[in-house]
Amino acid sequence: MKRQYERPVIQKLNTGIMNKFGTRTEYEPYTHIDGVSVKSLIEQFGSPVFVMSERTIRENYRDAVRAFTTRYPKVQFAWSYKTNYLNAVCDVFHQEGSWAEVVSRFEYEKALHNGVPGNKIIFNGPDKTDDDLTVAIENNSPIHIDHLDELYRLTQLASDMAKRPNVAIRINMDTGVYPMWDRFGFNYENGAAWDAINKIMTSDHLNLVGLHTHIGTYMLSPSAYAAAATKMCDLALGIRRKYDKVIEYIDMGGGFASKNTLKGAYLRGSDTVPGIDEFAEAISSAFLNAEFKKGELPYLYLETGRALVDNAGFLLGSVISNKRLADGRRATIMDFGVNILFTSFWYDHKISPAQGFGTYTEDTVIYGPLCMNIDVVRENISLPPLKAGDHVVVHYVGAYNITQSMQFIALRPPVVMIDMQGKPHIIKKKEVLATLEKDEVTPDYLKEFKL
Ligand SMILES: *Cc1c(COP(=O)(O)O)cnc(C)c1O
Repeated sequence: MKRQYERPVIQKLNTGIMNKFGTRTEYEPYTHIDGVSVKSLIEQFGSPVFVMSERTIRENYRDAVRAFTTRYPKVQFAWSYKTNYLNAVCDVFHQEGSWAEVVSRFEYEKALHNGVPGNKIIFNGPDKTDDDLTVAIENNSPIHIDHLDELYRLTQLASDMAKRPNVAIRINMDTGVYPMWDRFGFNYENGAAWDAINKIMTSDHLNLVGLHTHIGTYMLSPSAYAAAATKMCDLALGIRRKYDKVIEYIDMGGGFASKNTLKGAYLRGSDTVPGIDEFAEAISSAFLNAEFKKGELPYLYLETGRALVDNAGFLLGSVISNKRLADGRRATIMDFGVNILFTSFWYDHKISPAQGFGTYTEDTVIYGPLCMNIDVVRENISLPPLKAGDHVVVHYVGAYNITQSMQFIALRPPVVMIDMQGKPHIIKKKEVLATLEKDEVTPDYLKEFKL
């Protein structure tokens, strides 16, 4: 058999030398998840496969609850469905006591279907139709109003239905982090928030029970939350003064950064991202230092998503092939691409080999399998050379990848959850041709052809 020709290149190999971060630390083989071997998971479920750790989700959640409840007496979490709405994942959060936070009718139905009582489903988002609002009113769900058109439609519906729905308004404000997220809700500084409050408070049809904000996502600054919480408390106290009405809750949204590393960041997210205690400290202090009477402290609602689930998700995959690019760089082609790893557009994911390896590493580009030039999983990562068939583990993929995944060219992989006893369960099956063709309709006249 003829040997394949590879053009000779001279390539610098890094052998355990110091780089700007010190000695090499990132390239430990990652062979087991919660005691289950990566190899056996791939043998059983195929490659690629997403793996969720139930243990990590529960630990994250309990840690977040501890961080807030040790600092503030009235705290309630609501799971942000869009971060990861696989039912098994949502159910773990609900078992832990978390309500549901949804931003669309589809998510709303999912929460109901999971058994969350209507009054524990927080309905956010700019797009709620009359029908969506009617269902939410009937189920007594807290409706978080995004804009005046929604406020007016809701007033009309409430009047028609002779009901008085519980509502909150979403507030946006300057928190010192730019660009400002001012497209959702009513602005604090320009008076739009008070305008909406006055309209609701003078209407007999709506019951203003809360105030909501969600200041951004992957936020690195606890002080932005302190600024936001102070402004939210100011509004609540203003409502108490002007209308003699006690606001029941202030919902501070989500957005706490996970430990992922943003592209272009100098240091790794796992070393630099503030812990949940720092966010809890900033928010609780602002609430406690505001001038609420003790009996009138509002509930603190939190809709944190990515910080509770990102590190509980792993993507296991395999090397398809290696090649030299025209400039001599090593390229490794994996069996997973950006269609199922959407967050690789903004994160430098940590990627570990799943088996032992030698001592040298080489700068490598990691490509996915799609026939598309943008399918780059990592533009540059220093990895030990992997060979076809070797396995890798991509870390911190539990947030947004599954909900934003795109079916393109290939069928999407299964998702497995490892339970507290270390037993893997399928929580979403691998797609098959029929999954995709189920909703296609081909007119009969197109079905016959001769070639
Ligand atoms: C997306 C979203 C969240 C969760 O955000 P994370 O960054 O995942 O914590 C919470 N609340 C609202 C309104 C959202 O849109």
